[in-house]
Amino acid sequence: MRRRVFRLLVDPIACDGHGMCAELFPERIALDRFGYPVFSDQPVSPDLLPLARRATTMCPQLALHLVEANASGGAGR
Ligand code: SF4
Repeated sequence: MRRRVFRLLVDPIACDGHGMCAELFPERIALDRFGYPVFSDQPVSPDLLPLARRATTMCPQLALHLVEANASGGAGR
């Protein structure tokens, strides 16, 4: 059975760069010098999914999304 792999995506138009996501999910999100999220190259492993989901739901702009990495169209910024 194929293991599902997830990645984070950000809507750069909606993101306001306040960085809450990096505080909530530092395992995979850092901030650039302007305060916008930069994602780890590592996928979101199943054990980290709850933290990733919390970061997406807590984003005040709803700009952060969790997507299946091998879904059509790929993933990444
Ligand atoms: S919490 Fe949302 S709006 Fe804030 S930096 Fe992260 S993605 Fe952007």
